[in-house]
Amino acid sequence: MSLLNVESLRVSYRTRRGRLEALSNVSLSVGEGEVMGVVGESGSGKSTLGLTVIRLLPGNAVIESGSVRFNGVDFLRLPEEEVRKMRGRVISMVFQDPYASLNPVMKIGEHFAELFLEHGAASSEEEALREAGEILERMGVPRERLNDYPHQLSGGQRQRVAIGLALALKPRLVIADEITTALDALVEAQIVELLKEVKASYRTSMLFITHNMGLVAEIADRVTVMYAGEVVESGRVDEVIRDPMHPYTKALLSSVPRIGGPKDVKPIPGEPPDMHNPPPGCRFHPRCPFATGNCRVEEPVLKGIGDRYVACHLW
Ligand code: ATP
Ligand code: SF4
Ligand code: MG
Repeated sequence: MSLLNVESLRVSYRTRRGRLEALSNVSLSVGEGEVMGVVGESGSGKSTLGLTVIRLLPGNAVIESGSVRFNGVDFLRLPEEEVRKMRGRVISMVFQDPYASLNPVMKIGEHFAELFLEHGAASSEEEALREAGEILERMGVPRERLNDYPHQLSGGQRQRVAIGLALALKPRLVIADEITTALDALVEAQIVELLKEVKASYRTSMLFITHNMGLVAEIADRVTVMYAGEVVESGRVDEVIRDPMHPYTKALLSSVPRIGGPKDVKPIPGEPPDMHNPPPGCRFHPRCPFATGNCRVEEPVLKGIGDRYVACHLW
């Protein structure tokens, strides 16, 4: 049994235009110490997946069906009180905007002290700050920054602090949602290096969400490719990159920006669908160069081929 098992997850949002299904039958697993990349264009449901796993979905979201098992426990059914105790300590999340985890009127040190004391991980503020200083240094931020407010740091340092906070209590799973997207290419490359070190030294499992297959190639062990709320392909990163099976994965790979190079992506022709009204059959058919008549009516199911999975009639 993996650390995280997401099974047939269906999540929708209530919107003014009606129900929007953001995740349709999504399944994936993340093993102990494993980094699972989740990749797909804007609107494919990546953040909805991350927020469901850590139980931070907004009020208009509805979990229609499916399960999220964390360490064997049915996480979606746990009382909120228990989930709150687990957040930060067992499972944590880093967002695109570091201010999602930072309070602008609190010093960096106070963030760590609050976290440690709330979870009983330090017996005094001095002990918490000592520990926090070590974490900061491991994250490549000088210890003196503990006395600064978030706005006194650079964007890259703020994100390092957010990563440090997420790792501080040595959780078993970290969800990283587009954590380098807002950074310039050079700082992005530095954060990627930091994550590689984190992966090697902390052995934390990670759900690494990004629209950039290049980042997945750098960091992840396996990858789940999402399109319009569905998993279209998954497998070991090296295999998926060497030999992508799904036409959408192929298109994503040919649009990869180089790490450290210009961040602009060569767009995939066509637009992702309107999720209020996704296309029938294969959701990718309006953009797929291989689409046949059958693709317009019959929905492909995710099939296992060796240790790979692909949802496409070509297979
Ligand atoms: P991005 O790359 O832009 O972050 P994403 O892959 O993270 O995209 P989600 O944010 O999960 O995608 O969105 C999936 C779908 O759900 C989209 O169609 C989006 O418009 C919709 N959606 C997301 N959040 C909400 C919300 N709070 N209320 C209504 N619809 C939402
Ligand atoms: Fe393309 Fe058909 Fe495969 Fe969909 S099922 S990706 S339309 S070939
Ligand atoms: Mg998102």
